[in-house]
Parts: sequence; C-alpha cells; structure tokens
Amino acid sequence: MTVGLILASKGRDVVTIPPHRTLTDAVQLLAEKRIGAVIVAGADGKVLGILSERDIVRALAAGSHVMGDPVSRYMTSKVVTCGPDSLIGDIMEDMTSGRFRHMPVVEGGRLAGIISIGDVVKFRLAEFQHEAEALKEYITVG
Ligand code: AMP
Repeated sequence: MTVGLILASKGRDVVTIPPHRTLTDAVQLLAEKRIGAVIVAGADGKVLGILSERDIVRALAAGSHVMGDPVSRYMTSKVVTCGPDSLIGDIMEDMTSGRFRHMPVVEGGRLAGIISIGDVVKFRLAEFQHEAEALKEYITVG
C-alpha cells in the first residue's frame, strides 16, 4: 500500500509558512488549521524546514519572548520526505526510528501532500478491519 492511496482520500493540501514569519504566526496557524506541524517553505514553494508543536514548546523553554522570533530559527531543516509511491510500512518505520509524526510528500521537487501518524493509524485500522471481515466471510463460507 502506498502513500498515494492515503493522499487520494485526504487530499493534497499542505499548510505552509514563510521562514521569516514569527512563532506567534505559526501558533495561530496551527490553532486555526487544527494541525500539529507546518511546513516552512520559500516563495518558490521549496521546502526549507518543518516546525512542529514540539519545536515551539522547546523554544518556549527559553521564555515567552521567543514568540516574536522567526520560525526559521526553530524549524528542523533536515526534513525527511517521501514520495507518493513510498510504502506505508516504510513511512511507519521512518517515523518510529526518527521519532517524528509528520512526513511531507514530495513529487518532482514540489510538495504533493503531507502524511501524519494519525493518517497512517487511520489507514492501518481500516485495513485490519477489512482483513478481519474478509477472514470472517471466508470462515463462514467455508
Ligand atoms: P513531530 O513528532 O512531528 O511533532 O516532530 C518532532 C520533531 O521532529 C520536531 O523537532 C520536528 O521539527 C521534527 N520533524 C517532524 N517531522 C519531520 C520530518 N518529516 N523530518 C524531519 N524532522 C521532522
């Protein structure tokens, strides 16, 4: 099963923020969109980093004055991405070993969606349910 399958049902919209915007802007965006991470992107749409609620909490340990700082100061620049053809099992492994819950999907050098651990769990649950129903049917018919 591939990432493209999840994108087909959840859509390809990705919330982004320019690097010079402040942590306050990022917090407002996360709250408004009800999400846990935002992609930091340049005017050309290039992925420059990712800023998650964890980065903001870590930054706040220094004091609330950081809220006026640019997101580029606290984002993770080395972003692990996947493609629409990536396997969902591989994404789960990357998220587990890398200890992060968001994975931007990049296709032809451009952002093509974002997958969260919530999307992966939802998809896997639906898959397990489907398998269980198929097995039940097999046993009943047999
Ligand atoms: P998260 O669990 O996604 O809230 O993020 C935990 C930490 O990993 C934060 O420092 C994020 O900036 C970072 N992070 C989140 N997603 C990725 C990713 N796809 N690649 C690299 N770092 C990430």
